[in-house]
Amino acid sequence: MIVHKFGGTSVGDVHRFSNVADIVIKYHHDPPVGAPEESLVVVSAMGGVTNRLIDGARAAAEGQDSVYREIKAHLLSRHLDVVEALLNNSAERLEVGGLVEDRLHDLERLYRSIAVLGELTARGLDVVTSFGEQLSAHILAAVLRERGVRVQAISATELMVTDEHFGSAVPLMEPTRERLEEQVKPLIARGVVPVITGYIGATEEGVTTTLGRSGSDYSAAIIGAALGADEVWIWSDVDGILTADPNIVPQAKTLDELSYAEAADLAYFGADVLHPKTIRPVVENGIPLRILNSFNPDHPGTLIVEQPREDRAVLPAIISTTGLSLIAIGSEDDSWTLRMAAQALQRLSEAGFDVLMFSQSLSEHNLNLVVREQDQAHCLKILRRAFDYDELDSVYNLGVKEKAATISVVGVPGWNDTGVVSHAFLALGKRNTRVIAVAQAATEHSVSFCIPEEQVADTVLFLHRELGLEVSSQ
Ligand code: ASP
Ligand code: MG
Repeated sequence: MIVHKFGGTSVGDVHRFSNVADIVIKYHHDPPVGAPEESLVVVSAMGGVTNRLIDGARAAAEGQDSVYREIKAHLLSRHLDVVEALLNNSAERLEVGGLVEDRLHDLERLYRSIAVLGELTARGLDVVTSFGEQLSAHILAAVLRERGVRVQAISATELMVTDEHFGSAVPLMEPTRERLEEQVKPLIARGVVPVITGYIGATEEGVTTTLGRSGSDYSAAIIGAALGADEVWIWSDVDGILTADPNIVPQAKTLDELSYAEAADLAYFGADVLHPKTIRPVVENGIPLRILNSFNPDHPGTLIVEQPREDRAVLPAIISTTGLSLIAIGSEDDSWTLRMAAQALQRLSEAGFDVLMFSQSLSEHNLNLVVREQDQAHCLKILRRAFDYDELDSVYNLGVKEKAATISVVGVPGWNDTGVVSHAFLALGKRNTRVIAVAQAATEHSVSFCIPEEQVADTVLFLHRELGLEVSSQ
């Protein structure tokens, strides 16, 4: 069996949905010689939907009724556009259209209760963000059904049993395996394609949880491992894992084969085609993972296995992440201590925010934190609350310093004798890039820089050239 996972851009609009259905049909009805015949689909929310759901919840908590109503209306029309364009059978169209309307009506009710309470908990946010995957799974299942595939949409709240860590819940393998064996295996045996929501789960008591942003890859890996899949295929919008973002460097090359450890490294550094937690479940079961492009399905993509081919190309990769904010918090005098830095990080983590990078400057008495721009206002609020009511009334200048980006250069042993880190430093020095913070792994195979956002494209292009990735024929 192959687990096919389709990300948000792969189901971003009417045309993309239709294209995903074609891919599923191709592999399910007419698999290449020797390929497994059975398939299971894991699907993300339509691109951007989870962000909008979160924006709506935050607006509700602040009592901005018109904002969350507008978001609900926008989500309704986005999903109904797909239903109306792709479902020709009027009974199916009515049924799925009705389901979309009902679910979004529930969402609005939920927003209203968040507004009444004036508070958004991590638990409440998980219920809100679970709507995106629920909608896309039902729509994709209906499109496939209409095209003659026997399918069943299933909410992972029925299957993925997790702990209660709302916002980044940890799947509990044994109960999850039991449910998948009971509920999903018999469907597959009957030739039905299960279409399962990524990203979400539920506690044993049935309370909705999520596995963390971009967690659908992780869902696919857990499901693949639990059911003993032959392979897990992550369908994204680029030709696998590349030497750089192809939107910045059109000549970027696909890394054709990687070991699990190398891929985990790249994912950890933010290669957004792969969630970092995806690797572990497949490693334990030795299941090959492929990163493929739903926009270019004939490209072989990147294959991730225990032992890559000896003659594969060995190249470093440059991973860039934009849309980040640099926040600084500190004290005017020298009362800033490591304990306060630890407290700031702890509060943010408890509230479910990722701090992508941080640097502590003892001479400036402050801590610089890199967070997602979308989270910035909330992180500021949490820090203000944490420090205002404490003994730390000398906090000063808690605020956003600038828009930031991170660039990580991740090498593989054997690429170059002196390693990738010194090459990267040399290149940045030549270009005069302003480096705000640096983080380097002890292995010397990787290094991350935080730089001003407006310098990111030029810097990535320059690094790609300086590291010899454009001319390399390896
Ligand atoms: N829809 C979720 C997100 O945007 C999960 C995913 O796309 O993998 O984070
Ligand atoms: Mg993704």
